[in-house]
Amino acid sequence: MINNFDILIIGGGHAGAEAAWISSQFDLKIALISSPNASLASAPCNPAIGGVGKGQVVREIDALGGLMGILADKAGIQFRTLNESKGFAVQSTRVQVDKDLYTKNAEALLGQLDNLTIIRKMVLNVAKDDDTFFVTTVDNNKYIAKKIIVTTGTFLNGKLHTGEDQKAGGRVDCEKSVGLNDLFQDIKTLPNRFKTGTPPRLDKKTIDYSKMDPQDSDPETRNFHALNAPFTRESTQVSCYLTKTNAQTLSIIRSNKDRSPIFNGQIKGVGPRYCPSIEDKAFRYTEKDVHHIFIEPEGLNLETIYPNGVSTSLPKDVQESFVQTILGLESAKILIHGYAVEYDVVDTSQLSKAMEYNSIPGLYFAGQVCGTSGYEEAAGQGIIAGINASFALMNREPLVLDRTDSYIGVMIEDLVTNKRDEPYRLFTARSENRLYVREDNTISRMRKYRRELGLFTRLDLFQEDFLEEVELLKKLVDSTMIYSNEETKKYFIVHNYGPLDINISFKELLKRPENSPVVVLDRETKRFGVCFSIDVVRTVAISVKYEGYIDRAIIESEKINRLGKKKLNWESLVESKNISFECKLRIKTIKPETFAQLQRIEGIRPATLAYVAGNII
Ligand SMILES: Cc1cc2nc3c(=O)[nH]c(=O)nc-3n(C[C@H](O)[C@H](O)[C@H](O)COP(=O)(O)OP(=O)(O)OC[C@H]3O[C@@H](n4cnc5c(N)ncnc54)[C@H](O)[C@@H]3O)c2cc1C
Repeated sequence: MINNFDILIIGGGHAGAEAAWISSQFDLKIALISSPNASLASAPCNPAIGGVGKGQVVREIDALGGLMGILADKAGIQFRTLNESKGFAVQSTRVQVDKDLYTKNAEALLGQLDNLTIIRKMVLNVAKDDDTFFVTTVDNNKYIAKKIIVTTGTFLNGKLHTGEDQKAGGRVDCEKSVGLNDLFQDIKTLPNRFKTGTPPRLDKKTIDYSKMDPQDSDPETRNFHALNAPFTRESTQVSCYLTKTNAQTLSIIRSNKDRSPIFNGQIKGVGPRYCPSIEDKAFRYTEKDVHHIFIEPEGLNLETIYPNGVSTSLPKDVQESFVQTILGLESAKILIHGYAVEYDVVDTSQLSKAMEYNSIPGLYFAGQVCGTSGYEEAAGQGIIAGINASFALMNREPLVLDRTDSYIGVMIEDLVTNKRDEPYRLFTARSENRLYVREDNTISRMRKYRRELGLFTRLDLFQEDFLEEVELLKKLVDSTMIYSNEETKKYFIVHNYGPLDINISFKELLKRPENSPVVVLDRETKRFGVCFSIDVVRTVAISVKYEGYIDRAIIESEKINRLGKKKLNWESLVESKNISFECKLRIKTIKPETFAQLQRIEGIRPATLAYVAGNII
């Protein structure tokens, strides 16, 4: 029967697309049901993939066999490496994408999968009887599935706000979905709804780019997908531009506080702390009038520009006035006004690390419906939910990623061990092990998980070859000594390698602070005629550079785990000068009595934990 599936995925955003893509790699019958009004894997907010902490997630998804890296490379119109001046551990790739191309490619790649049926309808209800799920769509059609993955994003009971205007919807021009409890009874939602927002979209012809700083695409930034040559580009590259707000901009915003839905009580949902609206910034940082705005094209042939940094739900007339105070935007015309959306969120403390709802086996959740914000976080959960729903059908143990070796593991553990009180986004400080969880060593970290999928494709062959080369180069590096003599001393001077008064190991040379380990290893392998790809060189060089720190971090995190049972006096913590204001607020709310409770509080940084572990208990 055509309406009978192994896995049925509700919602075709980034989480749903990823779940559908990976589960279709197995010999299973998959359906993806998504609204007819939103294209698959579309970008309702800024059309960019990656960023700090998130670039790592895109590479992890890619190493597991996911879709996001492939799509981002295809549609990438500006590539950048963020934090380039900082350590390798916090460097991340960010790709501005053509949002039209991105979604068209997603539809094409998913559309060609023989065992995936794409259905464009709204789902009204899901019910379970024994081991079978029954899904009803708006046209009263029924679909049957053994497993369900819910990835409905911001649509559940969605409500849009622009100033006084309010209407039901999941995003602009899209209908809302029913609420989570109408969709499926007995699901625990969070008491607070969440909210997110987006800036107005500007007409690209009305912007004076000559007044702004261009941000060109960086030819040295690597593609995301491992099988793509690192520096080839599939789309035309363009620049983004940088401008900023000023006193006049902020004065207009501040004088309209009573018309702001987030300050006049109209919006009750909690917004993302790390992606605040411009009105949040205006009232949180009252002494500050200058905030950066990145002027980002939404696509090569699209008319709209995304002004990154001025997300707002202020009334339309206020948006028009404040936008035109900004340098280069004096004549800017708004094509789509900014807005905020409030939506239902599932209580992720009810999920297992496989993303399965504990009390309803076979029901999985992933993406923004789980209280995260961001495409990468959604896709990271989507691939894990897709793998685990498939594994359950094949009677295999769930695939659980460890937080010590992946950002996806960090995110999922944070989600399932905490009750969310605000939208969750990933950043590098969420990982205790961030010196190890880097972009350059993704294949080394993720290969063991990809092997568990039991697939053998070109990607697997590539990963196995890559790791073989890494091992070979590591052995070479480990066993090489540099002998101090006149010739090598001169060579060291020419390349600024530092002194060579005694014999040193090659590793020592790579670890010297004055040397870039990648440049040195690349030069020296070439000098001796041993040919390794630059990505193998990077993985080995950076791993050697950090090995001492990583060993120490592992000892530190083992110590933190042992300390879990120790008692705490939370009142003394909120008096401490060494704990941030944000952490103190959270400690005051939760009042942890043990170190383990402190560890589990959302937003308590590893630095705070390390301080408490080392100095208080
Ligand atoms: C206004 C706005 C502003 C945002 N701002 C930010 C930001 O500043 N920073 C940031 O990181 N992220 C932001 N995001 C979030 C980002 O868009 C999401 O994190 C990401 O798209 C989530 O992916 P997802 O797959 O979970 O859900 P979505 O991309 O929302 O996809 C959900 C899909 O499910 C479908 N669907 C929903 N209900 C049903 C149903 N009942 N039946 C059938 N189909 C259904 C929808 O049509 C949609 O295709 C914003 C989103 C919006 C809407």
